[in-house]
Amino acid sequence: MLRLAANLNRLGTETAFEVLARAAELERQGRSIINLGIGQPDFKTPQHIVEAAVKALADGHHGYTPAQGILPLRVAVAKDLLRRHGVEINPDDIVIMPGGKPTMFFAILMFGEPGAEILYPDPGFPIYRSMIEYSGAKPVPIPLLEENGFAFTADQVLARLTANTRLIILNSPNNPCGGAVAPAEVARLVAGLERHPHTTVLSDEIYSQMLYGGRAHESLLRHGAIRDRLIVLDGWSKTYAMTGWRLGFSVWPRALIETVVRLAVNCHSCVNAPTQFAGIAALEGPQDAVATMVAAFDARRRVIVPLLNALPGFRCLDPAGAFYAFPNVSGTGMPARTLQNKMLEQAGVATVSGTSFGVHGEGFIRFSYANSVDNIREAVQRIDRLLGQ
Ligand code: PLP
Repeated sequence: MLRLAANLNRLGTETAFEVLARAAELERQGRSIINLGIGQPDFKTPQHIVEAAVKALADGHHGYTPAQGILPLRVAVAKDLLRRHGVEINPDDIVIMPGGKPTMFFAILMFGEPGAEILYPDPGFPIYRSMIEYSGAKPVPIPLLEENGFAFTADQVLARLTANTRLIILNSPNNPCGGAVAPAEVARLVAGLERHPHTTVLSDEIYSQMLYGGRAHESLLRHGAIRDRLIVLDGWSKTYAMTGWRLGFSVWPRALIETVVRLAVNCHSCVNAPTQFAGIAALEGPQDAVATMVAAFDARRRVIVPLLNALPGFRCLDPAGAFYAFPNVSGTGMPARTLQNKMLEQAGVATVSGTSFGVHGEGFIRFSYANSVDNIREAVQRIDRLLGQ
């Protein structure tokens, strides 16, 4: 019997990948499956980005790069942050990562230990809690409530701070609910954090370019008062349909750069070189593909929400951002997990139960609308027939 480290028992996972595997298995058996479970754009990476990576390979960029990422890419990220958020960030404070996830992994490893408390959104991206538990820190959920439009409030966060709170994880627009925080609420939170100078903030802004209904994203980077204890996670996965490339970036306080780069050197050395050139092409090339994708998600959002609201026992808010609808399904009388399984096994529709994202997700199901309008309509019809049985 192999003896694994005991702390692995505390490491969780992401149910979306299990749903994906089960959906693929059912498809192999010849079943028709509509996948509204996976959180990735259904678009291809724009061609000019692909070509930049091919060119980088042809040009001989085959070696290691600096662990922090190549300078031209960090400069391109700084320009992008100036364009989008109106803030000047020094490229030396930017770290290129293999995706969005490593930033949370490293930030939580940096602050999590027994005795520490880390706040995180619930329902939220499951890796937050998984990593907090793994680190030995105490996970303290910030409930994202339907009545608040699934956005955190400053009061909720501030009320949970103690002398032991080392890190606050925020995510707006959020996965899985599609909620987004209002700029005024961010300002109130930042003001309240003045009384807690030893707490660091990790702001996961990976969906920052996916907001609807004329909403604007309020990056925490705009709040200079906490810049020396703010980590911002962002990346290319969602914005440029590049989930499989594994490319992300984060902005760090200068004082943490040496530590995060040391963690990167211990883990992955650097992001693969051609992908970094693709990242430059994405940021410096035409942005119309981003606008086209976001417009498509918005159109689908306007299709799926009324359809879900018409299902018996479903009630769905208009999502403010990302590409997820998060209906309240408690009216069906079924626990979320049971309904998720029935929809997959009996109706051939893959979704993810709210409970996969935390205890406050009970009674909800996440529908990713990164799928065609025809598939969305067909999926909801199938669910309607299932619920009518
Ligand atoms: N943060 C949130 C909120 C996400 O939903 C995801 C992916 O689903 C990530 C981070 C991770 O992104 P990446 O695939 O770039 O690691």
